[in-house]
Amino acid sequence: MSIILDAIETKKYGGTLCEEVIRKVVEGYTFGSVPDYQMSALLMAIFIRGMDYGETLALTRAMAESGETYSFPDCVDKHSTGGVGDKVSLTSLPIVAACGAPVAKLSGRGLGTTGGTIDKLEAIPGFSATLSRERFERQVEEIGLAIVEAGDLAPADKAIYALRDTTGTVDSLPLIGSSIVSKKAATGAGRLLYDVKRGSGAFMKTAEEARELADLLVRLSEDLGIRASALISDMDNPLGSTIGNALEIRESVRLLKGDEVPADLAEMARRVAVRLLELVGVKSPEAAVERAISSGAAFEKLRNFVQAQSGDPDILEDLPVSSTVREIPAPRSGYVAIVHATGIGHAALALGAGREKKSDRIDSGAGVEILAKTGDRVEQGETIARLHGERNAERAARLVMDAFELSGEPVEPPPVILDSL
Ligand code: URA
Repeated sequence: MSIILDAIETKKYGGTLCEEVIRKVVEGYTFGSVPDYQMSALLMAIFIRGMDYGETLALTRAMAESGETYSFPDCVDKHSTGGVGDKVSLTSLPIVAACGAPVAKLSGRGLGTTGGTIDKLEAIPGFSATLSRERFERQVEEIGLAIVEAGDLAPADKAIYALRDTTGTVDSLPLIGSSIVSKKAATGAGRLLYDVKRGSGAFMKTAEEARELADLLVRLSEDLGIRASALISDMDNPLGSTIGNALEIRESVRLLKGDEVPADLAEMARRVAVRLLELVGVKSPEAAVERAISSGAAFEKLRNFVQAQSGDPDILEDLPVSSTVREIPAPRSGYVAIVHATGIGHAALALGAGREKKSDRIDSGAGVEILAKTGDRVEQGETIARLHGERNAERAARLVMDAFELSGEPVEPPPVILDSL
């Protein structure tokens, strides 16, 4: 029997796959000797039967080592499991780099309603996320901040993820954990912070699921020699006030320049920056973060990083957004009880801020501005959201209206960070 058939038979009856079999199957699928239909059968067996920790670690290692591997033992990186309006990388990483901790980061594109840092950065004219290994290493050394797309890192994960996406096998804990950590291990940063999102706009809907994933990510990373920790943060509501690529860059610039942004984003960016600085042993990290913002060093770091990756830093403060605007009024007076992240994410997607189909072209200037956050008092007819973009405005407007729940009673805004480990 071939290795892959043997693996399918073993997993189908709930058996355990050994490291050698896992490595051969991963290699076979990445380089074409294992066909899609057999790999799909194995993934579905894993989805149903699960994998123990030893199998999950072996899968992570095999995918991490399936292509090029980099090594940046003194660098930090962070990973978010995906959210709506999540601009924590765009804000916390220039701060961290301005505080002297070098950042070597691998980022992804948007997936469904969750945005991707690479799509956001590409809203900046000229910006390139494709750097050669030499250029990536030089930029980390000279600027202290570089962000690239996966490229040849962990090609097995790229192939397996695409197959999972079309075979109903994405939402499996061992498959998610090994997928995330394999890419991070291949990029090679020695210190990692995971931001695991919990809520209706995230993969993990409950606190227990988020905690389980956070534990797994930290354990796998530590076993691969990476110093890691994790936060669990709210994703019932979108983060900050903007959703959409250019809009999110503009909001990030406001934070880095010390201008006012919503409290949830201000807190999240600072807490992530502080945790990353703690991982590299910086003394008084809170004070260092405040200094980096108030002195202008964090914004200057963003400008230098954008310029080094061929983007135009002079346009950052005034990045164009779609001039086709529609305002959404509050249907009645009250307190905002929740702004459902899923509804807002779907509205931004409909307007063109993400891809509904793989082949869709993103409109960088499209998206949603939230003008009333959970806990705010609004009066009937007051503008609570603004839509930007030419596509599907009717559908997007309905989605945004439905996303706002109003209450007659005052509402406490939810905490942004729910747990940490
Ligand atoms: N993000 C990843 O990189 N992989 C998954 O499987 C899910 C989210």
